[in-house]
Amino acid sequence: MRIEEALVKARSELKIHESGANVARNLMLFHLKVSQNELFLNLKNELQDESGYFALIERFKDGKPLEYITGLASFYSLEFDVLSGVLVPRPETEILVEKVLELSKEFDNPKIAEIGTGSGIISVCLALNLDTSIVATDISEIALKNAKQNALKFNVADKIKFVKTEFLNTVDEKFDIIISNPPYIANDYKLDKWVLNEPKTALFGGEKGDEILKDIVRIASQKGVRYLACEMGYDQKKAMGECLKFYGFSAEFYTDLAGFDRGFVAKNLNKTKGKV
Ligand code: SAM
Ligand code: GLN
Repeated sequence: MRIEEALVKARSELKIHESGANVARNLMLFHLKVSQNELFLNLKNELQDESGYFALIERFKDGKPLEYITGLASFYSLEFDVLSGVLVPRPETEILVEKVLELSKEFDNPKIAEIGTGSGIISVCLALNLDTSIVATDISEIALKNAKQNALKFNVADKIKFVKTEFLNTVDEKFDIIISNPPYIANDYKLDKWVLNEPKTALFGGEKGDEILKDIVRIASQKGVRYLACEMGYDQKKAMGECLKFYGFSAEFYTDLAGFDRGFVAKNLNKTKGKV
């Protein structure tokens, strides 16, 4: 079978998924270990190890996320390593990174904490763009392994300290900014089988979904940070607005590219400017 025929067949098998065509092409790139351009120039060639390629397609059909099969995910125009058992980076999280890069301009060397670092994408992108020191926590051993691997891959391991703890429980330092993309999905929300193959502890935030976010607001207030920036669920703006106000924050909410409420940057009104 020619490569182009295999792609047509794979695309039709993957109609079950909205990104099926993209997955078929990406798995072909992964299978042949070629670039997009090379693939395009070789479409008429015979496909080597056809059964190997269709075995990859089967793994995806069984619910394995594309990024777990390839071990890679692109985020902020970079290729991060992603281990099975760690949340796959989402494009909307790039907005959260940009928000924090913007407000970091107020500081010379902002001290930043990230709660729930996962594959480390947020902390690595901040470290690549800022003169900063970051403490990044997670409760998951495999996530911390993945994050350290990415910090090494992008040469920023000396700027990020990884700590295995809940929230910032065993971290004594003070910070200018706390950033987090915590689990925020309600426990009974129905997710597709690909997402359900990602770790539940990275996705579900409690009965309502916003419980961990609210804990983070309280902790940020106790820590006396100047800013808190978080991603959140599309239906959590009202609840988070009330919670942030209660703890003395003034919040600006932002939407994702689909127009859904997706997060906030909150300024601590009880904290005057100055070094932490
Ligand atoms: N920051 C990564 C990203 O944006 O792709 C991962 C975000 S994922 C939605 C949430 C992460 O928080 C998971 O890695 C999970 O293990 C971690 N986590 C869940 N509860 C936590 C807690 N109480 N303290 C610290 N990390 C937690
Ligand atoms: N936005 C992700 C999803 O829809 C969830 C990430 C999270 O809970 N922080 O699958």
